[in-house]
Amino acid sequence: MGLQYIQTLPITTKQDLREAGIFGHLAVDRKEIAQYHESTGTTGEPSASWFTQEDLVTGGRQIKQCGVRLISEDLVLVRFPYALALPAFLMQQAALQTGAGVVPASGRTVVTPYPKVISMIKRLAVTVLAGLPREMELLAEVARLSGADLSKDFPTLRAICVAGELMSDKRKQHIEKLWGVPVFNMYGSTETANIATMCEHGNMHIVDEDFVVEVLNEEGTNAVPYGEKGFAVITTLSHQGSPLLRYYNEDIISVDSSICPCGRTGAKLTHYGRRWERICFEDIILDANDIQEAIYSLSPIPVAWQVIEQERGLHVLLDSHEVDKWSEEEVQSLLSSQLQVPITLEITSMLDRVSLMDNKPSTKPLYIRKRSTDA
Ligand SMILES: [Zn+2]
Repeated sequence: MGLQYIQTLPITTKQDLREAGIFGHLAVDRKEIAQYHESTGTTGEPSASWFTQEDLVTGGRQIKQCGVRLISEDLVLVRFPYALALPAFLMQQAALQTGAGVVPASGRTVVTPYPKVISMIKRLAVTVLAGLPREMELLAEVARLSGADLSKDFPTLRAICVAGELMSDKRKQHIEKLWGVPVFNMYGSTETANIATMCEHGNMHIVDEDFVVEVLNEEGTNAVPYGEKGFAVITTLSHQGSPLLRYYNEDIISVDSSICPCGRTGAKLTHYGRRWERICFEDIILDANDIQEAIYSLSPIPVAWQVIEQERGLHVLLDSHEVDKWSEEEVQSLLSSQLQVPITLEITSMLDRVSLMDNKPSTKPLYIRKRSTDA
């Protein structure tokens, strides 16, 4: 049966995977298992996957297609957490396959606090940083607090690779400006590995030898027109350990054909956020990407923020060391004109800068708090 008939097959939901149990989607003998991975989302339900040795190699190859173009002279500081999560290990694989060196500087642990990482980037002459976008923002804040000049003190740094969180265009520009180097995003998940990687021109190309990506309506019954927003349904073509057929991962994406100057042929994927993050007010639908674009168009851009859904609008918390540059009225009117809903504003201290400079590991941030979500 050809792939053109894929739409006649049923979709696989997160609920299906939960009901199948932890071994339910294991598709190889136990002796073939190389690694088990798991991530816990804001909803508290873990997503899991199994990797064979070959799957890990494939995962590294997917990342190698990223516009960062690792070379053997690179030294990559990996700030992704090494406990259970997948990205650190795929980044290691990509480095291994290109001959680049790795500094495993895991996040979420007391072993590698922020000031230590900042000092390692400098002392070890790191060329590429890899981690969550939030870690790049927090590392920049720690560098500022310790008196470092990001544009001058890390002359060997040439690029940053991020994954694991939504990164809108404006957030990408912000991190590029903070560090003075290009930022490359990757889109994937624990269950699927890396589906799309960003090229030199800022487009996330689907790794189409490994994945079929469909974009369906909310009910998962029909495809939306090409280029329009919908819900991602992923089929893995090469994954052996825990393959997935038409997996509805609850991400909101669009897929568009791209004739990109980079020469990659994979269609262009844009990620807009998770289904649970979407906020609806009568005829206004706000995705996490809309909220990020509004927040990152402020000047100065906040160092920490949170958006809380209210009955008739949004309550926005903002933190910056340059609060005096914000006029509350201007910020409020800018956000409400961008998001088209009433905004209440609270300029406050959210980031514990003492802990950041100390030995305290970071925890998962929550950017959007829904009225119905007990997160
Ligand atoms: Zn491209």
